[in-house]
This record gives sequence, structure tokens and C-alpha cells, in this order.
Amino acid sequence: MKQKRPFHVMIIPTLGCPSKCAYCWSSEVGSPIMSIEIVKDIVAWLKDFRNDPVTFTFHGGEPLLAGADFYRVVLPMLSTKLEHIEPNFALQTNLWKLTPELAEVLFEYNIPIGSSLDGPQKLNDLQRSEGYYERTMKGYELAKSHGLQVQFICTFTSYSVQFKEQIFNHFLENGLALKLHPALPSLRSDEPDKWALSPEKYGELLVYLMDRYLENLNRIEVRNINDYCRCVLTRRGTVCTFVDCMENTFAVGPDGSIYPCYRFVGMPEYVMGHVHDRPSQKDLAESAVGLLMRHFKEYVDEECKGCKHIRYCRGGCPYNAMASTSGEIMGVDPHCPAYKRIFDEIADRFNEEMMGSVGLETDVSVESVKAVRPAIMPLIRKLASN
Ligand code: SF4
Ligand code: SF4
Repeated sequence: MKQKRPFHVMIIPTLGCPSKCAYCWSSEVGSPIMSIEIVKDIVAWLKDFRNDPVTFTFHGGEPLLAGADFYRVVLPMLSTKLEHIEPNFALQTNLWKLTPELAEVLFEYNIPIGSSLDGPQKLNDLQRSEGYYERTMKGYELAKSHGLQVQFICTFTSYSVQFKEQIFNHFLENGLALKLHPALPSLRSDEPDKWALSPEKYGELLVYLMDRYLENLNRIEVRNINDYCRCVLTRRGTVCTFVDCMENTFAVGPDGSIYPCYRFVGMPEYVMGHVHDRPSQKDLAESAVGLLMRHFKEYVDEECKGCKHIRYCRGGCPYNAMASTSGEIMGVDPHCPAYKRIFDEIADRFNEEMMGSVGLETDVSVESVKAVRPAIMPLIRKLASN
């Protein structure tokens, strides 16, 4: 099964955003736009940084606020001057600022787009902002008409989880691939838990979505469930939450400051270095923030050593672990119970169905397992054949 590229650099052209989503912690009014000089510094920094293939993700804030001229210069610059590390690209946007010019340049570089939609219009606009749904869908139509691929991230909050059935059906009926995201506590919020989904509710939601996905395998794709299955089957994490992201993921803010991940951007206490200083991998690892991230890794080695999922879970996301304790490492990712629940569920179903098919002569048929809950083998076969 395919493994994703391990080296990931997030570029945050601005923390500004035209939307005011109720639970968003990653935008900042008045944030500047990254200059081309900073992008030149990114190129110079990465020239001899490491040799692994890199994925650049443009994130925000709202990265399309940088405009078509920014991408017309930046994409060829990164592609040609860093050719030896074979850059590929992704972009996370609400699509409001997409123009035909931007769509053309993004298509030229084959850039997959992640956007955000929390379900049907009324629910989405209540959680995000008035008029959000319409503006995003307008951008989506424009993106589609230019041949761009768009996948939506659906944030489930402590409020919207009660409408999970309507939300799933909305994605199913509109032919949209779904990637779910639990609303998270933030280091930047005075009320870090206001919208956050509890780990128990998140675990239940994951199992619910897996069942619905398995019942509708030919009609929808739930990307997270694919990722969880790949983790269990290959025994390796395939998304940042389930690998040691430290030393493999970095984010560059609008002013060229380097952080461990986009989620820390804009918080000066999490700056690891600056692109104009061309820090080496060792310099960043030895910075105070680099040492903090390493401390998380060592903490997980000890704290999770008795867990059968440690190899592909790695304690979850270090930001999540720190957000609930004001930046201190006093526990693993609080979503641990949800991760255990879904990993166990996948492993149990897989084992039962394998046993069932081996033991057909002993009357433990796949059909009897299926009668209780939807079978997972069709999804495993689908992932393996991709
Ligand atoms: S801090 Fe969390 S979100 Fe950021 S790269 Fe690491 S695992 Fe991913
Ligand atoms: S499931 Fe929980 S205990 Fe197991 S590795 Fe992940 S965070 Fe640690």
C-alpha cells in the first residue's frame, strides 16, 4: 500500500482570512503577505537541507489571498530551483478567492486542493460564517470547471456531531469525498475546549463513519478511514498525526520564521529559526522548540510502550498534546481513546474476517460476521489495488 512522502514543508503566505469561522484559531487580522524575497530564502534554505522528495502545502490563514501573481512566480521557482528534491504541491483553501487566473496556474502544477465544508448549508454557515457555503461552492464549481481536484475536510464539533447522519448523507448525495477533522482545543484560545469534540464522541464518530463508508464503498470515500486502515495493515503511520512529525514537517510563516507545523505559526515562542539564516536540520533539532518536540517523542516511547498501536500511532499529534496543557508535555494526544477505538475496531474486523474465510468448513462464515457489522475486506482490497 502506498506510503506518503515523509518530508513536508508548509508555506503560510498569510495568516489573514476573509472568513470568520467560529472555532478557527489559525487566522490573524492584518497579517502581511509573504514576499517573493522570503520564497527565495526558502529555496536557498532547502537547497542543501536534505535529499528526500518534498511536498509543499500552501496553508493559511487563506493562502489564495496572496493572489495569482504570487503563485505564477513561486511555483516555477520552487519546482525548478529545488528540482533535485522533486517538489510536489498541495493547497488548503476555502476557495472564496479562487479566480480563473489562479485556477489555471494551480492546474498547470497539478495541485490537489483541500477545502472545508462542515455539512449542509445551514449547519455549515452556523459553525463557519454567514454566506460561507455559497461562496465555497461557487469556488468549487470554478475549480472543477478548470479540472482541479477538490477534497473537503469536514470539521465535526461538539455541536455538529449530533447531526452526523445528515452530514454524512450530504457528502454522499453530493458526490463529495470526505475527510473528517475533529474540532480541537487551541493554544491561542482563552476557551480552548469550547468547540472541541471529546475523545469518546470522536471514537464513536469514527466507527459510525466507517460503517457508513463500508456500506457505501462505491459511492463515497472517507479518507481518514483509508488512513487508519493503512496504518493497521502496513504497521506504519501514513499521515502526520501517526508518525514522528518532528524533524520531517516544518512550516514557514509569512515573515520567514520556521515552526514545527502550521498550527504553531504566529506564536513567537514556537519559532525554531528563520529561512534567511539557512538553518541545518541539526540547528532546528537543537533549537528550544526542536528539543521540546523531541521530548514529546521520548515521552511517547515511555508512555505508550505497552500499547499495541504504538508503532503506527506514535502518541498522536504533539500540538494536540500541548494545546490542552498550555504548551507543556504532560500527556499524549488527548484523542488517544478515539485512536485506540478505531485501530482496535479495524484490527478486530480484519482478524475476524480472515478467520471466517479460513474457517468456512467450521461454520464461521464471512456472511455471519457481515450480518453483525459491515465487512472491512472490500475496503482493504480496494486500498491494496490502488
Ligand atoms: S504537530 Fe500535529 S498537525 Fe502538526 S505536523 Fe505534527 S502531527 Fe501533524
Ligand atoms: S493509541 Fe494511545 S496509547 Fe496507543 S500509541 Fe496512540 S496515543 Fe499512545
